[in-house]
Amino acid sequence: MTEKLFRDVEYNYQRINEQIAEAAEKSGRRREDITFLAATKTVAPEVINHAISLGLDHIGENRVQELLSKYDAYDLSRCSLQFIGHLQTNKVRQIVDKVDLIQSVDSFKLAKEISARSLAHGKVCDILVEVNIGREENKSGVFEENLEELLCQIAQLEGISVKGLMTIPPVCENKHKNLKYFYNMHKLFIDISEKKLDNVSMTILSMGMSSDFYEAILEGANMVRIGSALFGARNYT
Ligand SMILES: *Cc1c(COP(=O)(O)O)cnc(C)c1O
Repeated sequence: MTEKLFRDVEYNYQRINEQIAEAAEKSGRRREDITFLAATKTVAPEVINHAISLGLDHIGENRVQELLSKYDAYDLSRCSLQFIGHLQTNKVRQIVDKVDLIQSVDSFKLAKEISARSLAHGKVCDILVEVNIGREENKSGVFEENLEELLCQIAQLEGISVKGLMTIPPVCENKHKNLKYFYNMHKLFIDISEKKLDNVSMTILSMGMSSDFYEAILEGANMVRIGSALFGARNYT
């Protein structure tokens, strides 16, 4: 069973890399300009480590409890560990010393806690601000019109370094609609970059998952978060 799974992951890993390279080239960039982060929820550490042995160098978890339970088993010697899910303020202290970047910051309250806990560990935490580009109710992320103000507030915090933006667009049956969200997000990313806000670096634009990473790269993503296309469909039981 494991042998078969390992071979599937090898095959998928190679294919995804080829697709990333092709989309990068089509959008006037190189393969190295795009970061492939594997979303590892529900995936066993031995499978994650197999992907790391193939060259994968960024993984992301989206649940605090799951990250903690797998933490000692990851081989992180050549791989960065990021947090990509919704993060509750009262759980920040459990992960802040373990992750290299938190992708999903969408409030000043959360940022303040990350900053304080990071400073207590003598570190500055890299973060992305999550944008709710589809303006969906009950979804994390800041609305576009509040982004600049939030960035300016967060930029004052000593324990945080803003590295860019992340989004999870609405699920669309229609690919054209999806492209529009990616396009709008890239435009926002460029607009904010051009404002050259103090202590705000717009380096990473994290968008695109298994079903749409190719389109996301064409529209300007430079980090994609891919789970099921690499590891197979998730089994939550
Ligand atoms: C699970 C997850 C992904 C990857 O989803 P797939 O469709 O399996 O590629 C990306 N981003 C976040 C925040 C996730 O939780």
